[in-house]
Amino acid sequence: MLRILQLPTNVITKIAAGEVIERPASVVKELLENSLDAGATRIDIDIEQGGSELIRVVDNGHGIHPDDLELALSNHATSKLATADDLFAVRTMGFRGEALASIAGVGQVTIQSRMSGFRLQESEGRDQESSELGAEISSNGGDLSGVKVWNGAAGTRIEVRHLFFNVPVRRKFLRTASTEMGHICEIFTRIAFARPGMHMVLKHNGKNVYEVSAADDLLARIGVFFGKELRAQLYAIDARQGPAHLFGYIGDPACERGNAKSQYLFLNGRWIRDRSLGHALQEGYRGLLMTGRYAVAFLFLEVPPDQVDVNVHPTKSEVRFRDAGALYSMVLATVRNRLNEEELTSRLQPPPSANGSPAYFSPRPAEATPSLFAKPGFPTFTKNPIPSVVSSPLSVAAEAAAALVGFAEETEETEETAGEALATDHGPRTTDAKPDLPEVINAIQVHNTYLVVETTDGMLVIDQHALHERVLFEEIKERLRHGTLDVQQMLIPEPVELAADQAALLLEHRKELGELGLGVEDFGGNTVIVTRYPALLDRRPPAEILKRVVDQLMSKERLPTREQLLSELMSLMACHAAVRSGDPLTPEEIAALVEMRHLSNDTHHCPHGRPTALLFTRQELDRQFRRI
Ligand code: ADP
Ligand code: MG
Repeated sequence: MLRILQLPTNVITKIAAGEVIERPASVVKELLENSLDAGATRIDIDIEQGGSELIRVVDNGHGIHPDDLELALSNHATSKLATADDLFAVRTMGFRGEALASIAGVGQVTIQSRMSGFRLQESEGRDQESSELGAEISSNGGDLSGVKVWNGAAGTRIEVRHLFFNVPVRRKFLRTASTEMGHICEIFTRIAFARPGMHMVLKHNGKNVYEVSAADDLLARIGVFFGKELRAQLYAIDARQGPAHLFGYIGDPACERGNAKSQYLFLNGRWIRDRSLGHALQEGYRGLLMTGRYAVAFLFLEVPPDQVDVNVHPTKSEVRFRDAGALYSMVLATVRNRLNEEELTSRLQPPPSANGSPAYFSPRPAEATPSLFAKPGFPTFTKNPIPSVVSSPLSVAAEAAAALVGFAEETEETEETAGEALATDHGPRTTDAKPDLPEVINAIQVHNTYLVVETTDGMLVIDQHALHERVLFEEIKERLRHGTLDVQQMLIPEPVELAADQAALLLEHRKELGELGLGVEDFGGNTVIVTRYPALLDRRPPAEILKRVVDQLMSKERLPTREQLLSELMSLMACHAAVRSGDPLTPEEIAALVEMRHLSNDTHHCPHGRPTALLFTRQELDRQFRRI
C-alpha cells in the first residue's frame, strides 16, 4: 500500500522553483523586480553565456539588513507583506517571498548587501554598528553558508552562477545562449519601459547590449529598443475613466507586425499579459490592419490596487480586474478615437521630422476641402440629379454619390463590368467627418484599377476597389444603424446545399444574418433556403455569398461576438458590391469615387485593412527627382 510522505524542504523548494524559475530570464526578472522594490535608481546587469554561467544584478537600492540575509533566502519570507489583507493593496513588484529561495535552490547564489545610510536612520531599533557594514551569504543549491562581513558599496549585489546545475533536466532544456539572451533582453525591455527614470545597463559576455539613462523618457526608450523609425510613427494616448488612467503610445497601422509581441501592457508599473485588453487594442484597429496582423502599442494602465487581484499567477504576469468590461471599453474607445484623429492615408515613407520627434504628434491643420465638382472648368456631373441638390459642398458630395449610383445602373447590361448594384438613395451627408483629406485637383484612371489623383500637396494613388469597398462598408454600417438597409424578399426562396456542420453554423447565426438582410431558414438535411437578400448584393448568386459567410464563420477559433460577425459580414457585402479592379470608369465615375472619400469616417483602409490610397507628397517627389 502506498503511504503518504511529507516532502523534504529541498524538494518543495525545487517544485516551487519550477513554477517561478523557468529559464535564466526568469531569474533576471525576479532580481530586477527586487531591485525596483528596493528603490534603486541604477541597476547593472551582467550576463555570461545567456545566463547559464552567470547572472549578476547590482543595484543601489536600500539594501538588506545583515540579520535578514538568511531569511531573504528562505521560503515565504518577505518584507513586503505583513497580513493577508495587504494582498489586496499590493504596491510592490514582489510579495510572495519565494523568488530568492527558489533561485537559491537551483543555482549557486551569492548575495552581498549593505544598507544605505538613509535607510539606516529610518530603521528604528536596529543595531546601527553592525548594519553600517554590509554582509554576504552564499547558497549552493539551497545549502547556506554563514553570514560574513562585506564591505562593498551601498545596495545589493546578487550573483547566480551555474543555474540548474543540480537540476540536469532543466539545464538540458536551456536553449542556445543567444536565445536565452533574447528572453533576458525582453525582460530588460519591459522593466525599462515600466520605469522611466531608472538608469539600467545590460551586458552580455562583457559587452554592452543596452543602456538607458535616467533622463531617457518612454519615447526615448522606445527609440532605443525599437529604433527611430518606429518611434516616429507613434501616437500618444491619454485617457481617464473613473479612477482608471490609460496612457502611452500606439503605432500607426503602417507599423503592423506579424505577432502581438510588440504590444506592451503595463498595469501599475508591472508588465502584464491580458487577452481581453489585447483584444480591445486590436479591435481599435479594426479595418486598419489586415487579418492576422498586429498593432504596435505601449499601453500603461493605472488603477487603484484594490481594483485588481495580482495574486492569480505565479509570475504575476496575469491579473484579474474587478471591472474588466469597463477597461475593455476604455482601451477600445481610446485607441479608436485616437486613430480616427489621424490622416491614415498610407505614406510611402514617413517624413522624418527635423527635431527627431514624431511628426504626427502635432495636430494637423484642418484644411477646407472644396469639392472637386465645385472647381471652375471641371464639368459638374449631373446625370442623375437629386432634386434637392444645390451646389454647396455638402450636397455636391451627395451628388457624387448619386453619380456612382448612375454608373451602376448604366452598366447593368455589360456583364464583365458586373455593374454591382449599389444602394440607390444616398441622402446628403455631412462632409465634416474628415475635413483634412487632401484637396483633389485632377484625377485619372490607370490600368482600370487605380486612380491617380493630383492633390494640393502631392499625388494620391487610389485602389478603386479598396476605396469603394470602404465607402460601401461605411454606408452599410450607417444604414444598419438607422434600419434603412434595403432588403429584397425572394419570390422563390433559393435552396443552398452545404455540409452538415456548415448548415448548422449558418443557422446558429441566423439572427445576425437577418439583421443584415440575409434571411436563411432550415430546409432540412444540409440544405438552407435563402428567403431575403440585401439589395446591395442582388447581382451575386446567394449560394456564393452564403459559402463565403460560412468560410468566415468556420475560420474562427472561437465564436465571433455579434459585433465582430456583423462587421465581417458587412465587409463581405461591401467587397462583393464594390467596383472591381479591371472595371473601366468614366471621368464622372472617377470623380464620384474620389469625392466619396469625404463621405466616410475612415476611407484610408478597406475593411480588410488594405490601404485604399498611397500618398506621394510633393516634397517626396521633389526629393526623389533630386529637385531638393
Ligand atoms: P519578495 O520580493 O516576494 O518579497 P524575494 O524572495 O524576491 O521575495 O525577496 C525576499 C526579500 O529579500 C524581499 O522581501 C526583500 O526584503 C529582500 N530583498 C531581495 N532582493 C533585494 C534587493 N535587491 N534589495 C533589497 N532587498 C532585497
Ligand atoms: Mg521578489
